[in-house]
Amino acid sequence: MSKFTTIIGLEVHTQLKTQSKLFCGCANEFNPDHPNTQTCPVCLGLPGALPVMNRTAFDLSLKTGLALNCHIPLFTKWDRKQYYYPDLPKAYQISQFDLPFSENGWLEIANDEDGKPPRRIGITRAHLEEDAGKNIHDESGRGGDSCVDLNRTGTPLLEIVSEPDLRTASEARRYLEDLRTLLLFIDVSDCNMQEGSLRCDANVNLHFHNDDGSVTATPIVELKNMNSFRNVELAIEYEAKRQKKDFEKTGRTIDDAPKVTRGWDAERNVTFAQREKEDSSDYRYFPDPDLVPVVLTQTEIDAVREALPETPAKKRDRFQSDLGLSEYDASVILGQGPELTAYFESVASTCGDGKIAANWVTQDVLRDLNASESGLSEFPITAEILGALLKWITDERLTNKSARDVYALLKERAADGQAISASDVETLAAEREIVRDTGALEAAIQSAIAARPDAVEDVKAGKLQAIGPIMGMVMKQVSGADPKTVREMLISMIQK
Ligand SMILES: [Zn+2]
Repeated sequence: MSKFTTIIGLEVHTQLKTQSKLFCGCANEFNPDHPNTQTCPVCLGLPGALPVMNRTAFDLSLKTGLALNCHIPLFTKWDRKQYYYPDLPKAYQISQFDLPFSENGWLEIANDEDGKPPRRIGITRAHLEEDAGKNIHDESGRGGDSCVDLNRTGTPLLEIVSEPDLRTASEARRYLEDLRTLLLFIDVSDCNMQEGSLRCDANVNLHFHNDDGSVTATPIVELKNMNSFRNVELAIEYEAKRQKKDFEKTGRTIDDAPKVTRGWDAERNVTFAQREKEDSSDYRYFPDPDLVPVVLTQTEIDAVREALPETPAKKRDRFQSDLGLSEYDASVILGQGPELTAYFESVASTCGDGKIAANWVTQDVLRDLNASESGLSEFPITAEILGALLKWITDERLTNKSARDVYALLKERAADGQAISASDVETLAAEREIVRDTGALEAAIQSAIAARPDAVEDVKAGKLQAIGPIMGMVMKQVSGADPKTVREMLISMIQK
C-alpha cells in the first residue's frame, strides 16, 4: 500500500489596493515605523462606531471573482466571526460565511509536464474580510514587552480558496505564481509578500490507494507561516513525507484525528505542530447587524466583466499561438508582471518577430534590469529603441552580433548621461549594415584568394572546410560582410 497521491488545497489572502480601509476612512498603508497612527473609532472597535463598506474594495473583489471565472451571486452579506486576539479589538472579525461574493470558479495554470495542456484548478470561493493588526513580541529572551500595532486592523483582504485539486508541491507553487501574475495584471493588489500583502496557507493530506480500489486518507494538516513561494513548496514536500512516515508508523487516518495546524520553520526546514484547528461552529458566525447586505444587478456584473483586461492565461496562449513563443518564454515574460509584458509586446510589434523580441527581452533586457537597482521605467533602452534595433535584424540588414554591439554602445552613452533615441539606432546600425553588394566584396575576396594559394588548392581538391581562413580574411576586411554572400562568391570565384 505504498502508492499514494498528495492532495493540496491553498488559501491565499491578498491585500487589496485601496486608499482607505475596508470599513473606515483610515489610510490603507504599510507603515510599521509609525505604529497606531492609522486608526479611528471604527477600526479600534470603540462602542457605538459604525462601519461603512468601502465600495472600491468591493469592486476589486468583484473584478477578481470574475477573472477567476467565479459565479457572482446577486445577494450577499457580511458576517461576524468571533474570536479573541489582542490585535483584534472588536473580538470579532467582519468576514463572509455562507454567502461569499464569488464562488465555483477556476484558474488555468500551465501544466507541470511539458507539452501537456494547461490544468484548471477549481476555486471554491473568494470572499472579502478585514485584516487584524499585528502583535509584536520581544524575542530577545529577556522578557521584554509585547506591543500591539493596529495600523493594519481593518485593511481589506480577499481570501481566495482553491479546491483540493493540486497534486505536487511544484504545482502548488505554479498555482501561486500564476495567481499572483493574474492579480498583478488585473491591478487589484501589489502582491508584496515581504509586506504581507500576499499570504498563503496550504491544506495537505495523502490518499493511499488500496489494492481493492478504495482510498485511505491521512488527517488534513493546515500549513502556516510560509513567507515565500519557495517556502510553500518546501513545506508541502516536507509535510507529504512526514505524513507518509506517520501513517506507516501509526496507521492514523482522517477519521481518527482532527485537522491540525502546523507552522513552517524556514531555518530548520521542518513543520512543527501548532494547535488543533477550530471548527467553523467555534466561531459562532452570525450576520453583522451593523452592515447592510450587498445587492447587485446582472448589468453591473456584466459591465465589470466587459472591462476586464486580457488575462495572463489568454496572453500566454496568444504569445504561443500567434507569436511563436515557447511556453517557457511566455511564462518568464508574464511572470515579470504587466510592465515588462507591455514592453515585450511593444518591441515585438515594432520589429515584427515575437521570437527575436522574446530572446532579447528574456536574456539581454532582464539581465540588465536584474543587475541594476532601478526598474523598467528608468531603463534607457526603451521599447521604441529596442524595437527599432531588432527591426534591423528582422529585415536581415544587421547581424545579431552587430545588434549587440549597437545595444552595448547605446547603454554606454546612456550611462554617460547622454539622451538616446530610436534615431541613434538608425545611425549606429547603418554603419554596421550587412554588405551584400558583390562589387564591394569582390576586391576583398580577390586579395584573400591571392594571399592564401594553399587554402585555395585545398578547396579545389574538395576540402571545403579550408574555405574558413579565406572567409575570415574577407570578413575582417569588410565589416558587416554577409557571410552567406561571401561564401557563395568565394566558391564560385575559386572554381572559375
Ligand atoms: Zn479606521
